[in-house]
Amino acid sequence: MKSLLYIFLPCKQIYPVGCTYLADYVHKRRPEVRQRILDLSQIPPGERSKAIRETAENVRPDLVCFSWRDIQIFSPHEGDASLEQAFNFYYSPNPFKKLAASLSGLKSLYQYYAGIRTNLAHVWLIRKICPDARIMIGGGAFGAFAEQLIEKLPEGTIGILGEGEEAVLKMVEGRPLDGERFIARENGKTITGAGQSYTKLDDLAVDLPYIASVFPQHTAYRDDCIGVQSKRGCPYDCAFCLYPYLEGKSVRYRPAALVVQDIAQHYRQWGTRRFWFTDAQFITGKAAYPQCTEIMERIIAERLEIEWSGYIRTSLITSELATLMVRSGVGDLEVAITSGSQEVLNSLHMGFMLDRLYDGCRYLAEAGFRGKVILNYSLNAPDETEATLRDSIESYKRVAAILGEDRVFPMMFFLGIQPHTDLE
Ligand code: SF4
Repeated sequence: MKSLLYIFLPCKQIYPVGCTYLADYVHKRRPEVRQRILDLSQIPPGERSKAIRETAENVRPDLVCFSWRDIQIFSPHEGDASLEQAFNFYYSPNPFKKLAASLSGLKSLYQYYAGIRTNLAHVWLIRKICPDARIMIGGGAFGAFAEQLIEKLPEGTIGILGEGEEAVLKMVEGRPLDGERFIARENGKTITGAGQSYTKLDDLAVDLPYIASVFPQHTAYRDDCIGVQSKRGCPYDCAFCLYPYLEGKSVRYRPAALVVQDIAQHYRQWGTRRFWFTDAQFITGKAAYPQCTEIMERIIAERLEIEWSGYIRTSLITSELATLMVRSGVGDLEVAITSGSQEVLNSLHMGFMLDRLYDGCRYLAEAGFRGKVILNYSLNAPDETEATLRDSIESYKRVAAILGEDRVFPMMFFLGIQPHTDLE
């Protein structure tokens, strides 16, 4: 194959780090292949089909890889009022509020299904304008609902579950996808490929000037937050979570030197100051301490004045790690406490003790942490009772007493039931 087009399907504006890693991986092994990344989130909805058409005509791709990141909209993040509407619909004593909430709920449902239909239509559009191109699709949203989505995509589309570097390279080189984890439709039947090849992360060092050349829209992210991956996989077993299914349970580490080199080149070449570790967990366990420590020590040694964050198991933060976190520029944190009841946490197989989480908060406070902490609670766990909900209120008070009430913000979530999780 000679040319490859990546299309990042629209979601909230977020740096398409997965596409950049794929493009970099292919470029290092097949430098003769022309590549291009198209980020639809940056294009107004009414102009996306035109952008796909123009880019495809320009690139004339032999392979088009779609990345579908988000599919859930029912979250209370960033002003999304769907949870509030649900509360009003079920519990408000005011009939007008109930009516308004039900209309808003219908609108949310319409937007949800329309969004899925639109994304599927983008794939069909490529099938129409590039009839000879092969099509692949991956990303978290696709991985979660692969069996349902593959039936709605053009026959021959290859869906990738989990990481896709090797699978994409095999397609480019015309090799069979043996040993890859994929799903496809052939002659009206769904076929799946067993196995999973894990990409070696030892030499994952992004060639940033190359990425800038194949991703002209990157300029929109220079002053924003850039995603950096330091490891893949999560060893935990939280009942509601898809990460172990998508990324695997064995943790693969990227050398700390390459992680910080990645941050440093964005810092120096693009002027980026904010970074997000895209790992399922930045501190996956005690085995990750040496790598996390080295990453933070290198950020400090290189005098990179950045603000960073990521998903962090607060229960694993030690006094030494907290000091390094603060010195290396940790910013606001989201702490997935989930519940203030140890019994509920155990029933969800969360794998941490609340007392250790409070210890982690204490170490952060002692280290001089001044950021905000969003405490995420999921109030609909199967074993929640009124008493456990009261425990959650108490847990907020404990964390607020440690870190300061003005900096701790409780956020309510509801656990979604997703395929391939224990809650299904
Ligand atoms: S620790 Fe986080 S990423 Fe890992 S399984 Fe639990 S919720 Fe998922």
